[in-house]
Amino acid sequence: NLSQRLSKVVKTLRGEARLTEANTQEMLREIRVALLEADVALPVVRDLVARIKEKALGQEVVGSLTPGQALVGVVHRELTAIMGGQAAELDLSVRPPAIVLMAGLQGAGKTTTVGKLAKWLKENKKKKVLTVSCDVYRPAAIEQLRTVTGQAGADFFPSTADQKPVDIANAALQWARTHYHDVLLVDTAGRLAIDEQMMREIAELHRQLQPSETLFVVDAMQGQDAVNTAKAFREVLPLTGVVLTKLDGDSRGGAALSVKAVTGAPIKFAGVGEKLTGLEAFHPERMANRILGMGDIVSLVEEAHKAVDQEEAQKLAAKLKAGNRFDLNDFAGQLGQMSRMGGLSGLLDKLPAQFQQAAAGADMSKAEKQVKRMQAIIYSMTPGERARPELIKASRKRRIATGAGVPVQEVNRLLSQFDQMQSMMKKMQKGGLAKMMRGMKG
Ligand code: GDP
Ligand code: MG
Repeated sequence: NLSQRLSKVVKTLRGEARLTEANTQEMLREIRVALLEADVALPVVRDLVARIKEKALGQEVVGSLTPGQALVGVVHRELTAIMGGQAAELDLSVRPPAIVLMAGLQGAGKTTTVGKLAKWLKENKKKKVLTVSCDVYRPAAIEQLRTVTGQAGADFFPSTADQKPVDIANAALQWARTHYHDVLLVDTAGRLAIDEQMMREIAELHRQLQPSETLFVVDAMQGQDAVNTAKAFREVLPLTGVVLTKLDGDSRGGAALSVKAVTGAPIKFAGVGEKLTGLEAFHPERMANRILGMGDIVSLVEEAHKAVDQEEAQKLAAKLKAGNRFDLNDFAGQLGQMSRMGGLSGLLDKLPAQFQQAAAGADMSKAEKQVKRMQAIIYSMTPGERARPELIKASRKRRIATGAGVPVQEVNRLLSQFDQMQSMMKKMQKGGLAKMMRGMKG
C-alpha cells in the first residue's frame, strides 16, 4: 500500500548523503508508482510529482546538509498541501438552527456519520442537535438513525416511509426552530450508483433547506470511484466538505489525496470505525504523516536539523575557545541555520490557526528574502574577506554589492550587524556559548 511504498522510498533516501539527478529521478518514479497504485487520480499524481520534483531540485533540498531528510519534508508538505493544507472546520456560524445536509451513495456511511456528528457536536461544541431521516425508501434506515441518535444522546425527529423527503425536512426544520436546536442534521437516501432521481431529490432538498454545510460522505476504500462519485455530486450540489469514512480499513489512501483536488471541497472529517466514537476532525498534515507511514516524520526531519545545528554550534564553540575570532563564515553559518529551520514562515506554520490569521498581515516572506540577501552578500566575498572583514573597504564593498545585486548600503548594514554579533560573541563566556546559541534559535 501507499504507506509501505512511500516509507520504503523514505528509508532509501535517508541513507543518501547527497541528491543527484539520477537518484532524484529514481525517487520520483517510485513516488509516482506508489501514488498510482494507491489509486490516486492521474491528474493529481502528475501535479504532485511535478511539484515534488520542482522543490526537490530547488535550493531547499540540494543546498541542505541532509538532502534525504529535506526531501522527505518536501514530500510531506506537498501531500499536506494537496489535501488542502490546513484543517477545514465545520461552519455553523449562522442564526440557529444550522443545517447540515448529508449526501452520498448507499453504504457510504451517511447514517452512521450523522450519529457520530451528533455526538461530536454535543460533546465538543456543546450543541443541541436534532437529527432527521429523509431516507423513505428503506424503513430500516429511519430506525437505524433513531438508534444511533439515541446512542449519541441527541434528539430525533421521526419520519415515515409515506412522506416526501422535502416535507420531512421542512417539518424537522420547523421543529428545530421552535425547540431551540443549534444544529439540524439531515440524513438522506443513497443509491448503489449515481442515479438521476437521487440527484434530483438531494438537489431539491438543498434548494429548500439552504444548508450551512453540505457534506459528501464517501467510503475511502472506493479509491478512484470515490472521486468520480464526488465529481458527479459536485455537479448538482455545492458541497462544502467531505467526510471520508472507513479510513480504519485498509484503504489505499488514494481518495484522501484526490478528493480535495478534484472537487475543491476539503475533507472535514474522517470516519475511523463503526462505533460512534469513530470520528475525527480531518487534519491534512496528520493524514500526510499517516500516508508516509510514520507518525513522527516531521519531528524526525526537525531532529536531523537540530543535530546538524548542534554539531555546528559545538564546532563554533570550540573554534572560539581556541582563541579564534567569530568571522563572516560563521555568520553565514548562522543565517543558514535560520533558513534550514524553515525560516519565519516555517515557524508560522506551527502556530494555531487564529494566530496565523493575525500574523498574515505581516510579510514573513520579506524577512526571509532579507536573510537570503544577506547570505548572497557574504557569498560574494572572497574567503579572505570572510575571514578578515576589516579588509572590506569602499572599493571591495562596491564589488561585493554588485556581485550580490544589492545596493552598497546593504553591504554596510550587513557588516554592522556582523560587528554587533562579533562583539556579543567576544563578551560571551566560553562555556555558555553552545547553550546560548541553542537558545537564540528558540
Ligand atoms: P449509509 O447507507 O450511507 O447511511 O451508510 P451506513 O451509515 O448505514 O453505513 C454502512 C456501513 O458502513 C455500516 O455497516 C457502518 O457500520 C459502516 N461504517 C460507516 N462508517 C464507518 C467507518 O468509519 N469505519 C468502518 N469500519 N465502518 C463504517
Ligand atoms: Mg443510511
